Amino acid sequence: MVEKVKISENLQMSRLVHGLWRLSDWNMSKEEILRLIESCIELGVTTFDHADIYGDYTCEEIFGDALKLKPQLRSKIQLVTKCGIKLVSENRPEHKIKYYDTSKEHIIKSVENSLENFNTDYIDLLLIHRPDPFMDPDEVAEVFTELKEEGKVLNFGVSNFNPSQFDMLSSRLDFPLVTNQIEISVNNFENFYNGAIEQCQEKCISPMAWSPLARGEIFISEEEKVIRIRQTLEKIKSEVGAESISEVMFAWLLNHPAKIIPIVGSSKLDRIKSAVNAIDIKLTREQWFEIWQSSTGKRVP
Ligand code: NAP
Repeated sequence: MVEKVKISENLQMSRLVHGLWRLSDWNMSKEEILRLIESCIELGVTTFDHADIYGDYTCEEIFGDALKLKPQLRSKIQLVTKCGIKLVSENRPEHKIKYYDTSKEHIIKSVENSLENFNTDYIDLLLIHRPDPFMDPDEVAEVFTELKEEGKVLNFGVSNFNPSQFDMLSSRLDFPLVTNQIEISVNNFENFYNGAIEQCQEKCISPMAWSPLARGEIFISEEEKVIRIRQTLEKIKSEVGAESISEVMFAWLLNHPAKIIPIVGSSKLDRIKSAVNAIDIKLTREQWFEIWQSSTGKRVP
């Protein structure tokens, strides 16, 4: 059973989160989606990650329609969603270009839509999806405070923010941002180099890791770097007795002292289970660095 991580006084997220970015591509019926949600809950994966824009603005509603079949599940799960990106889409004909919008008006509208899509009256965690170069932190603080006081959003965080962007928004808030959702995988070390992971450690908050399996590229790419990583993952898979290299990739994230929360992006229950199995895999420091080295292509200095 997947354990919980205390995020704030009113939020415990599961140590593994299920991500719904690709939900509209899965072509699943409401009943099938409901079964997937229930299977996740049985495994202890109770937190679900969304964004307003996923599936061209459709994924939240698809998920919400499945939840409507069993509304009592709402109290057993935690809903994370994001806002702040405007897509050019048939579903938003008024958008002429893709851009970021962290205005009060847009955040409120996006949250109201999300509440309606999920058929709920609260969101557990709202993230600003990407840093907005036109952001007014005072305006964002004002709207966050309002949404919190109304009980519509219980907690706030950011996604893809570097430490100075995170600090700038935090400086205007009377409550802490509870996470930074960032890309971390054996194939992407950007957030080890830009200070984002250290910042989470400094603030004792867990980063959420998106694309923990490098969007699945790790299984198919013939790029030299990926081949090198795959060979190392296969070696370590045998050493630790894992069933798949996915387990080793999840273990590489889960073993890190920053208490990284990986977001599992698969529609398939057996693949979600392999992420759960990874929780029990202990990597030695040497194995962790063998994977690091296979990715960078060089020994540490
Ligand atoms: P990922 O785990 O890196 O990639 C998932 C993809 O890998 C799926 O297409 C999956 O296909 C495939 N896959 C998994 N196991 C496989 C295997 N053994 N062999 C071959 N293919 C395999 O995660 P992700 O979907 O890119 O991202 C996860 C979540 O992170 C998203 O759902 C979203 O919630 C979040 N996210 C956030 C941001 C952000 O900016 N904040 C950006 C991107 C994503 P199957 O479905 O067939 O298993």
